[in-house]
Amino acid sequence: MTDFMEIVNAAILWNCRTLSVPVPSVRIVEPSELATPTTHCAVSSDGGELLINRNFAQGGDTNETFIWLALSHECRHIWQAFHANLFNGYRDSSALSVQEYNRQAAEIDAWAWGVIVLTKRFHVRPTLEKNFGAEAWAFIEDRARQISEEGLF
Ligand SMILES: [Zn+2]
Repeated sequence: MTDFMEIVNAAILWNCRTLSVPVPSVRIVEPSELATPTTHCAVSSDGGELLINRNFAQGGDTNETFIWLALSHECRHIWQAFHANLFNGYRDSSALSVQEYNRQAAEIDAWAWGVIVLTKRFHVRPTLEKNFGAEAWAFIEDRARQISEEGLF
C-alpha cells in the first residue's frame, strides 16, 4: 500500500497545483461507503474530501498510469466543485448504467481532464471507448480539445 499511496499523493498534489484547487483530505473507506462497491474513488460534493476504496488501495495494483487516471479524474471533480456548475442534475452511478453515468457533463469533463494528463505526462491515451462506447468517447475527446485550448499547462 505504501507505493500505492505514494503515487496517489503525488497525483493529487500535482493535479491540485495544476488546477489551482485546495488539496483534499484523503480517506480510505470501505467499498460499502461508495456509490457502488467497485467504485475506485470519489470526491465529496464540496470537493474537500477524497475517498479511496480500500479494495483499490490494497489490491496491489500499482500501475502508475491507471492510478494517475483515476486520481486526475477525481481532482477534476474538485475543480468542478469550485469553478463550474456541471454538477447540476448530477446522479450517482448506482442509479444509471455505465454508459448513462459517464455521458453526464461532469463525467465527460473529468475523463477529458484525465486523458489530457495521461497524454501529457505519460504519452499514453487511455482506451476509454472500450468502456464507455464510441459516442461517449467522442464527447470526451471534444471536451479534451476544449480544455487543451485553455492552455492550463
Ligand atoms: Zn467521476
